[in-house]
Amino acid sequence: MKIIAIGRNYAEHVKELNNPVPTTPVIFMKPDTALLKDNKPFYHPEFSQDIHHEIEIVLKVSKEGKHINEKFASNYFEEIALGVDFTARDIQSKHKEKGLPWELAKAFDNSAPISTFLPKDKFADLYNVNFNLDINGETRQKGNTKDLLFSFERIIAFVSQYITLKKGDLIFTGTPEGVGKVAVGDRLEGFLEGEKLLDFYVK
Ligand code: MG
Repeated sequence: MKIIAIGRNYAEHVKELNNPVPTTPVIFMKPDTALLKDNKPFYHPEFSQDIHHEIEIVLKVSKEGKHINEKFASNYFEEIALGVDFTARDIQSKHKEKGLPWELAKAFDNSAPISTFLPKDKFADLYNVNFNLDINGETRQKGNTKDLLFSFERIIAFVSQYITLKKGDLIFTGTPEGVGKVAVGDRLEGFLEGEKLLDFYVK
């Protein structure tokens, strides 16, 4: 399986990092070795002094497809979850300055904690889903899918023009504003419509 992630998909987050608002989705990938499941602790890597949390809604691809029409794209995912797109912001900033790819900042081991999945039918409106990340009991990031710049269907249609989507692939759909540094000892709790799905420590 592969993990596709969308950058700059919430306007307020685009602003906080002084990036231009994209006209097409910004995508990057993480390998399967980035996955961190079952609320296992995240061990802070030594190569970065500025690992940022990015809470995101994650889609699980339910069947293979390429050149998917946006009109039918909703048929390609049945479940959603919460994930964290851990980012070594110090490394990313250096690479952005030089125009280099982001993999070292985004694709490292355990950089993609993921919760259990919930059926999308559980949500009355997929474009009015609240989610938040609390650190040590304080809400740091709060988002609602109504603020997505590119919808889930648009992302699936766009990505599948270039890359075949396969059953089980994951799509991280972007983070709202409020990203920031994590420290050893932090407890991260992620909520989807008030239901706690993520609860793990940074060690
Ligand atoms: Mg992200």
